[in-house]
Amino acid sequence: MSGRTNRLPDEARDQLRAELVRAIPARYSPAFHLIFPSLIGIGIIVGCALFLRHLQAWQLGMVPLAWVILNAGEWRIHRDLLHKRTPGMKFLYDRHTPEHHMVFITEDMAMRSSREFRLVLIPPYGIVAAFAAALPAPIVLGLCGQLNLGLLFTATAMAYVVGYEWLHLSYHLPPDSFVGRRKLIGRLRRHHATHHNPELMQKWNFNVSVPLWDLVRGTIYRADERREKLEQGRLGRGHQV
Ligand SMILES: [Zn+2]
Ligand SMILES: [Zn+2]
Repeated sequence: MSGRTNRLPDEARDQLRAELVRAIPARYSPAFHLIFPSLIGIGIIVGCALFLRHLQAWQLGMVPLAWVILNAGEWRIHRDLLHKRTPGMKFLYDRHTPEHHMVFITEDMAMRSSREFRLVLIPPYGIVAAFAAALPAPIVLGLCGQLNLGLLFTATAMAYVVGYEWLHLSYHLPPDSFVGRRKLIGRLRRHHATHHNPELMQKWNFNVSVPLWDLVRGTIYRADERREKLEQGRLGRGHQV
């Protein structure tokens, strides 16, 4: 079942935002939410590096390969779990479509206080869940005598999740902030901001980090091309009359 695509009137959006912020526990620490999962991720990366033995150059090929697999996974999880109610995974949809997407829209992407980190970042335990999801790789590859490949996969997965979080947060910082002003962040933010249009979020721009898999699957929204096609369609219909 697909989620709601209606755009909330500004007043209702402000009201929802106030309710969600009010529901954040007083003890919530935005700094902890940002730094603690990143430290766990970096710790696992260091741990993986320490277990590497007799690393050969070809094995480093696992890093770009894993990155592409993870980019495709990010695309699919975003499309199928964050934007559709899936039995057993409904909590992912609930945080994303009716909350994150209803509060932040293309024209109003910026957080208004650091407490709103809670509306952008995945829960702190997300990094542990990602580690658990990546764990079969080192186990299976280790059993096949390729522990280095498994460790490199796990390290890349952790770097990917940490990078995803920092990038996503930076898109939701004010565009005139120090991070928001960076050219690369501006380009990536435009891609993600288009996805935050309630009319487009179910179909376009699912990659939040780098839109490689959006490119492969043809889900990069190009407004000019679509306008041209619509106009051509209208003209075509006009000629038939
Ligand atoms: Zn977002
Ligand atoms: Zn989304």
